[in-house]
Amino acid sequence: MKKIIVAGAGGFIGGHLAKTLKAMGHQVRAVDIKPLTRWYQITPGVENLVLDLKVKENCYQALNGYEEVFNLAADMGGMGFIETHKADCMLSVLINTHLLMAARDLGIQRYFYASSACVYNGEKQTDPNNPGLKEADAYPALAEDGYGWEKLFSERMCRHFREDFGLTTRVARFHNVYGPFGTYDGGREKAPAAICRKVIESELYGKKNIVIWGDGLQTRSFMYIDDCVKGILDIMYSNIIEPLNLGSAEMVSINQLVDYVEEIAKHKLERIYDQDAPKGVRGRNSDNTLIKKNLGWEPSIPLKEGLKKTYDWIKEQMIENKGKDSKKVVFNEF
Ligand code: NAD
Repeated sequence: MKKIIVAGAGGFIGGHLAKTLKAMGHQVRAVDIKPLTRWYQITPGVENLVLDLKVKENCYQALNGYEEVFNLAADMGGMGFIETHKADCMLSVLINTHLLMAARDLGIQRYFYASSACVYNGEKQTDPNNPGLKEADAYPALAEDGYGWEKLFSERMCRHFREDFGLTTRVARFHNVYGPFGTYDGGREKAPAAICRKVIESELYGKKNIVIWGDGLQTRSFMYIDDCVKGILDIMYSNIIEPLNLGSAEMVSINQLVDYVEEIAKHKLERIYDQDAPKGVRGRNSDNTLIKKNLGWEPSIPLKEGLKKTYDWIKEQMIENKGKDSKKVVFNEF
């Protein structure tokens, strides 16, 4: 049993990770800036702290007496958020910087940093038939403005804390992650959750059309949360010191994603394309050669299967929260 911190545990991926680590028998301390009533998952036996990890003293308080850190805390969201909140995204640099300093000073044994496919050079993502971004494609650097630059800089902070101070750091570059217990409304949601929500809204409120951002031909790959959590643990406890892609290589267009959700809902909608909405890069996919070769990790859950679970969860939430101000917090049981 180890003493493990999950930073950003009130969020989507951090909530799943804290639950998994607790189920594995570890002593887990979960930290997030949000009030507990807004955490997606609360796991019994996990110590929950509400702290702003941009503040240096709070990072020392959070890590004191612990052995390992998973940093998933960031001010982030889908394209709609990151294209309009570049400074907010960049301020997450304070979280990772202060956590690294506390980790170094308090003798933390292992440190994981959640980076993103947004670090990749935009010029390598202009074709919807993207063959897959290799780890080397982050340089020469031309990351997503704001959010991507912060991720790239923070990756390098991890590298230099490892080289200069001997802190064991591991970095994963997540490609879009989706699944239950995540954001599906409010402006920070990502494409799979947003599309599920829009289709469910049409079912619940009788709307006949769906608004799609861009022309729907832009491509992405989407990784189900269970594969992501397994990959995080595989990378954390590996001896791979360079950032690794952690994503699916099952690339689809946004139109295909809508097809899949409509199939699940058994509900067809008229598509309205909003060309003025944030679209992000034209084509993005994960090249998994390195992670497969080094760790044998591959996603196990096909997109259609994961989408069905996500859709069912969002629908349940939307039915339950209809007409209410706040959402339900889930208390996990083992
Ligand atoms: P999320 O927004 O659900 O979770 C992030 C959590 O960090 C939130 O609960 C938020 O309240 C918390 N946080 C923000 N600022 C904080 C602060 N100052 N102090 C303490 N907590 C703070 O996002 P997620 O999808 O779970 O993403 C987790 C990590 O993975 C993030 O670093 C994100 O950038 C990265 N990532 C996610 C995806 C994805 O598809 N979800 C893709 C690439 C990278």
